[in-house]
Amino acid sequence: MTLTNELVDWTFERKCEKAVEALARNGFPAVYCKTGQEAIDYIMGEAAEANSIGFGGSLSVVDLKLAERLKELGKELLIHSAPGLTPEERLAIMHRQLNCDLFLTGTNALTLSGCLVNIDATGNRVGSMLFGPKKVIVVAGRNKLVNGTIDEAIKRVKEWSAPPNAKRLGYKTPCASSGFCSDCHAPDRICRITTIIDCKPRHTDLRVLVVNADLGL
Ligand code: SF4
Repeated sequence: MTLTNELVDWTFERKCEKAVEALARNGFPAVYCKTGQEAIDYIMGEAAEANSIGFGGSLSVVDLKLAERLKELGKELLIHSAPGLTPEERLAIMHRQLNCDLFLTGTNALTLSGCLVNIDATGNRVGSMLFGPKKVIVVAGRNKLVNGTIDEAIKRVKEWSAPPNAKRLGYKTPCASSGFCSDCHAPDRICRITTIIDCKPRHTDLRVLVVNADLGL
């Protein structure tokens, strides 16, 4: 590892720890993971008791290759983006995610004051984060940290998450070609629901893993 990488890791470690402390103050069980592998180990441990596992469509979770590992354990995986599904089947899986044993997702932004900020198009991902699943684990890579206000967190999402996600999902939005948000009103607009989770939802076992690695968008 180069000295530069060492110092970057150290800087992010301080910020991750600050986020974990703030999340704990806001009532979330929060864990610092030094590496992606530590996050994988935590999730695999928590998944042992779960039969049905929902995936919010997050690249952070894809980056950790969790679906492959959980499938080997014979878990029922609820993945609405699986190839070959009809629109009706996709919708049915999204509904089932709302009541699964364990829901896995990333977050579009995490402020150092311990708030989770997300922008969604359909609402299945953010809906499942709030209420329904027996357990929710949010994986927050260090690239999601925002040392600022909720408005700055939303700005991060519009600058760094939404345009590449629109491109990834093949939507016809201005940002999918320009790379910049123009606050469009395109039929394919993916920014339709903004959620701010500023304290742990009362009846949801929502845990946050803050990982010292770049994960997702
Ligand atoms: S509002 Fe429209 S242009 Fe802006 S990020 Fe969302 S989908 Fe893209």
